[in-house]
Amino acid sequence: MPDQFIGGRWTAAADGQRREIRCPADGTLVATVDEGGPKDAAAAVGAARSAYDDGPWPGTPAAERGALLLRVADLLVRDTEALARAESLDTGKRLVESVYDMGDIANCFRYFGNLAASGGTDRVVDTGQPGIESVVRHEPVGVCALITPWNYPLLQTAWKVAPALAAGNTFVLKPSELTPHTAIHLMRLLAEAGLPDGAANLTLGTGPLVGAPLTEDPRVDLVSFTGGLITGRRIMAAAAPTVKKIALELGGKNPNIVFSDAEFDTAVDHALTAVFLHSGQVCSAGARLLVQNDLHDRFVDELVARARRIPLGGPFDEHARTGPLISAAHRAKIAAYVETGLAEGAVLRCGGGPPQDPALRDGFYYLPTVLDECTPDMSVIHDESFGPVLTVERFRDEDEAVRLANDTVYGLAGAVWTEDAEKAHRVAARMRAGTVWINDFHPYVPQAEWGGMKQSGVGRELGPAGLAEYQEAKHVWRNT
Ligand code: NAD
Repeated sequence: MPDQFIGGRWTAAADGQRREIRCPADGTLVATVDEGGPKDAAAAVGAARSAYDDGPWPGTPAAERGALLLRVADLLVRDTEALARAESLDTGKRLVESVYDMGDIANCFRYFGNLAASGGTDRVVDTGQPGIESVVRHEPVGVCALITPWNYPLLQTAWKVAPALAAGNTFVLKPSELTPHTAIHLMRLLAEAGLPDGAANLTLGTGPLVGAPLTEDPRVDLVSFTGGLITGRRIMAAAAPTVKKIALELGGKNPNIVFSDAEFDTAVDHALTAVFLHSGQVCSAGARLLVQNDLHDRFVDELVARARRIPLGGPFDEHARTGPLISAAHRAKIAAYVETGLAEGAVLRCGGGPPQDPALRDGFYYLPTVLDECTPDMSVIHDESFGPVLTVERFRDEDEAVRLANDTVYGLAGAVWTEDAEKAHRVAARMRAGTVWINDFHPYVPQAEWGGMKQSGVGRELGPAGLAEYQEAKHVWRNT
């Protein structure tokens, strides 16, 4: 069966080829998928455009749209096992993490389903003028191109698909060419839930062949992209000639600030999860540890001792605590990044290469790595590695912690560890990041906005602002 979904039909690629998807944990062949090119991108945009201009979805009452999303949430729960397995095989991620993600994905659909069902986004304006009715309505933006990365394939997709549909848009989804399977499954669930033909379209293929044409097509009204900073800049430029709306969720180089009065044991544990979860392939990874001078030695010694004990393994290894990197190319990039750090004067405390375990030989594993004694003049402090590498910097006091934390072009997330709540809030207020955790790392909820300041992005996902990205405000004025 073909793998692209266009205008409600499973469609063979017009100008494409087949791609082998192999599990990064051991190189086994997962499946071969049908990949398209520019003609497929154009056909998918055409289908989404007709479904928007002539189809029922944009005019479907918000409450009905919300009800459909709630049905999708139930179907996601029903298919959790199959979806989690597919996600783990594509990404190499531990199955337990994928199962956890599926719960979050269903919750995301529930959140936006309920938000749509509650309606009430129209606002009556009191103009103060007699005989005037003034209402601000919120309408869909139109046709959306949704482009997603490989690290959290279905989660990132859900953050876009759920609000786009809740607001009444139609869309073309292009997942990462490395991890297409859960996107294919989602299309089946949207159809099963009763979404009209053409409202949801799926094209598969590479960024240059399928993603770029979507961002240039004048029939697309909005591009929502999650991925790397360089690609984000390209997309911004591609969207400029037709002034498309854009939403960008880009990278991060997220500081994790530990003051000497932090609760030691919990802070060490979270510093490890912050950076080594999913082998550091997390946009909000706490890849930059800032430790107060007088705590530095004890903290880093303990962290390194625990990092050395983290068991690596594939998706179905119950003892594993972290897995492989996505590809050989990505592992080579991490190795080069570590080499650069060492050449710049960082001190290697653990890791620094692939594991020796012969059982892991066929996967793209890289050991949890700690680079100590880093300073702001080093490029490893500023470049996102997107791998299992922690850089450690020292700081004297609150001011220096804030200065170092903000010394980055990124502004996605960060954390502060201290038992002094006032200090924690003072520091959080001064951090230029879209999310700040105090005495925690990584949690998020669909009710709260997610996104980046500075070059970590444009716009927000999740929360009411995540829905607003997919809406246009229209002011209707009536002189009675
Ligand atoms: P990437 O930028 O290489 O690719 C992301 C997607 O864009 C893929 O689907 C790719 O095919 C497509 N693409 C590539 N070139 C394109 C082009 N010219 N036009 C249109 N589409 C194009 O990123 P990646 O390697 O898949 O993902 C890793 C990056 O994603 C990291 O930098 C990470 O920080 C970021 N990320 C950010 C968030 C967030 O919420 N801010 C979440 C997850 C990942």
